[in-house]
Amino acid sequence: MEMIKKSIKNLNAYKACDLPFTVKLDANEGKNILLENVIKEGLIFNKDFNLNYYPDDEASLLKSEISKYVNIPKENIIVGNGSSEMIELVIKTFVDKDEIILSPTPSFSMYSIFAQIYSTKFVGVQCNKDFSIDVDKLIDRANEINPKIIIICNPNNPTGYLMTKKDIQKLIENTSAIIVVDEAYIEFAQGSMINEIFNYDRLIVLRTLSKALGLAGIRLGYMGANTDIIEIINRVKSPYNLNSITQYIGVQAFKNKNKIFDYVKEVKKERKFLYSQLIKMKIKAYDSSGNFIFFNSNIENLYGKLAHKGILIRKFKEDLEGYYRVSVGNKNENRIFIENLKEIIKYEKI
Ligand SMILES: *Cc1c(COP(=O)(O)O)cnc(C)c1O
Repeated sequence: MEMIKKSIKNLNAYKACDLPFTVKLDANEGKNILLENVIKEGLIFNKDFNLNYYPDDEASLLKSEISKYVNIPKENIIVGNGSSEMIELVIKTFVDKDEIILSPTPSFSMYSIFAQIYSTKFVGVQCNKDFSIDVDKLIDRANEINPKIIIICNPNNPTGYLMTKKDIQKLIENTSAIIVVDEAYIEFAQGSMINEIFNYDRLIVLRTLSKALGLAGIRLGYMGANTDIIEIINRVKSPYNLNSITQYIGVQAFKNKNKIFDYVKEVKKERKFLYSQLIKMKIKAYDSSGNFIFFNSNIENLYGKLAHKGILIRKFKEDLEGYYRVSVGNKNENRIFIENLKEIIKYEKI
């Protein structure tokens, strides 16, 4: 069939895992802490909620809330359907056919997928053996091949590695690319670059409500950048890209933003627990700044063995065969995961 465009010929549809489960630790989804009460009481829309009209294209109320949360003006914000839409928008706006997108690897798979869809060239710079990122190596490579944009996932998914703010500043100052920092998990770490958008005119920071804010289901992400970048991206953004219901729910969610701190604290505590348990089992686990832990195991088909017990984690292929990523769940979920893992290991040894 020749109707398909060349760039996507070998692309496969994203396949979300649809196995039955009792414990879901495969997608780094946080808990819905911001809206659980609102939902318990029943979501109420007042009579001025006009679903017959197109949404507010400016998403003005929502941007006001985001503005207070990250402490940058509304003018510096664009919102959309998850940070996935933000990644696509940035590529679509700034990278022409055959221009280069540079990113450390392994990292979030959507970068190279969008790169491919828009016929750009994706170049990965291999992380160190311990999955740390060598900023000098990144800078050298960038100066060799002149990428249009460099995407840094910080903390990195799936490895959990956190680049320091100093390293990211060094990267910006020593290259001429647009630097995109995907901060999907930054609430679980420190060193956000969001307030640096006024100091660097080539910096774009992406954030989401899907992880620390526990609202993956509403599809809400946003970006921060200086107003020149925002103006250019707005030329490309589809009108009314964010629906009224998500805008409304997003506003409600940010009213409870004081709950985020305690939730993050709890996740960090559980992350420490999970990490130490994995190490105790002699599993090679990597220190993580996200709400997940990356680890390596030579147990044959560990993914399937856990799934068989109703526990879902994330597995990887090719170069990362034998590597896994487990999300930090609640206390109960984490203990179920650990107990079942222990059981699998015991059985392996018999
Ligand atoms: C989960 C995740 C996102 C968030 O995607 P949404 O579209 O906002 O749900 C973005 N980047 C990375 C690296 C992620 O892991």
